[in-house]
Amino acid sequence: MSAPPHRRMLPDAPSRRGWCPSLARPMPTGDGLLARVHPPLGMLSLEQARVVARGARHFGNGHLDLTARANLQIRGVSEASSAPLAGLLTEAGLGDRRADGGPQRLTLTQPRAGQDPTEVIDVPALARAIEAAALDIPGLPAKTLVVVEGRPDVTAPEADCLVTARDAGFVDVAIAAADRMHTVTDCTATEAPAVVSALLAAFARTGRRRMRDLSEAERAALLDSVAAAVGHQDRQTGPATRSALPLCAGGGTRDVSFAPATGRDESGSVQMLTVDAPFGRCTAAALDRVVSAAEAIGADAIRLSPTRGFVLLASAGVPAVAALADLATDFIVAPDDPRRSVDACTGAPGCASGSTATLLDAERLAQDFRPLAAQGLAAHVSGCAKGCARPGPADLTLIGSQGRYGIVLGGAPGDEPAIHLPIEAVLDRLGRAKTGGLAAAFAPNMAWPDDGGDGRPA
Ligand code: SF4
Repeated sequence: MSAPPHRRMLPDAPSRRGWCPSLARPMPTGDGLLARVHPPLGMLSLEQARVVARGARHFGNGHLDLTARANLQIRGVSEASSAPLAGLLTEAGLGDRRADGGPQRLTLTQPRAGQDPTEVIDVPALARAIEAAALDIPGLPAKTLVVVEGRPDVTAPEADCLVTARDAGFVDVAIAAADRMHTVTDCTATEAPAVVSALLAAFARTGRRRMRDLSEAERAALLDSVAAAVGHQDRQTGPATRSALPLCAGGGTRDVSFAPATGRDESGSVQMLTVDAPFGRCTAAALDRVVSAAEAIGADAIRLSPTRGFVLLASAGVPAVAALADLATDFIVAPDDPRRSVDACTGAPGCASGSTATLLDAERLAQDFRPLAAQGLAAHVSGCAKGCARPGPADLTLIGSQGRYGIVLGGAPGDEPAIHLPIEAVLDRLGRAKTGGLAAAFAPNMAWPDDGGDGRPA
C-alpha cells in the first residue's frame, strides 16, 4: 500500500516520552566533538534542516557528515557548545530517544519510502511502529539495524533484521547470519512490530553486537522467541490470515540496493532529486542551499539517503532542473561522477587517528579512477586500518599509515597491505592501471621510478 501524496509525509511530531535532554554522548575526534543527529525515519522538515545547519554553524565548525544509515553528524563541537546544541536539537524534535547507549534510530528505509508506487505495504507506518515497539528493549546494541523494504526481492547486507514486503499487507522477516539473510517467518504487516520486537529482545539477551555473530544455538533461541511471540498474538487476536506464521529457518537470499542515482528522476506523479555529498561531507551553508532548493520546487521535507546524500520529492512537472544545478557546486549530481565509487573517511587533520589527508587525496584519486569506476570498480581511501567509511572490501583500498598509504587489492582496511606508497606514486600507478589493470599496476615487485624511493613490499 502506498502512502498518500508526499506533502503528507512529514515526520511525525516527536513524542517526548523517554527523550533525553542531552545529545547522545558527543564523540571526540581530531576536530573536536562529534554530535550525532538521528532524524526520525530519515526525514527532516525544512525547519529542522535549517536548525541543523544553524547548530553546525554556531555550535560546531560548520561541517557535517552524512552517514550510510541516513543520519547526520555535526563536527567540531566543543565541551562548552554541546549542551546548547543539544537543547537546540531537542527543541526541534531531533533529540535523543534513549539514554542507555542503545540505538537512537533503529530502522532504515528507502529515501522514497511511502512514495514508491511499487511498494505493497505502508513502509513509513511499519517503520514507525517497529521503532515504537523496540524503543524500550534494554541492552540493544547501538548499531542494531532493521531494514524495512516495501518491495519484494531486495537485500540489505548490513541489516541485522530485514522486513520485506511479500505481497499486499504481508511481510517476510529475516535475520542476518554470517553469509546471508535467513528468512525466519512471514506475518501480516500489523503483526510485524511484535515479531521484530521479540526477535530483538532475544538478540539483546545474547550480548552479541551484531545479529550475524550469533551462534547456531543463539539463533535457535531467537526462533523460539518468534514462535512464542506468534503464539501470544494468536491468543490475543486469533490466527493470522496467512497460514499460522510458519517458521522457515533458512529462507532465500536477497540482495537489496539503497542507491538511487543522483540527478533527477520522474515517474508517475512524483519527481525525485537526489544529490550525494562528496565522501559524505557537506557544510552548513550547503545544507541551507538544499533547503532553498526544496522550497523552490515545493518539497516540504528533506530525506536522507544511505548513499550519503539528500533526496527531495516534488510533484511531477514542477520545474526542478535549475534547483539541481544550484546544488552542483556542493554535491554530486551526475550519476557517473567517479566520486560515487570512492569512499573516504575524515582522516587528517579531522581525525586524530589519521596521518594522511584522505578527503583531499580521495578527490584527486577519484579523477584518475573514473575509467575504473565506469567498469563498476570501487575504491576506498582510509585514514587508518579502522576503515570507518567502508569496513568491507573494495577493489582498491588505501590505508593511511605514517603519511603514506598501504595498498590492498580486493580486500578490506584490516587486511595486510602488499605495498606502501605516497599518494603521488599511487596516482601514478593508477594512471597505468587504466590499460594494464589494478593488479599489474600495483604489483609489489614492480619498481617505479617515482614511488618515492620506498615502493617496497610492506
Ligand atoms: S578510519 Fe581511522 S583515520 Fe579514518 S576516520 Fe576512522 S579512525 Fe579516523
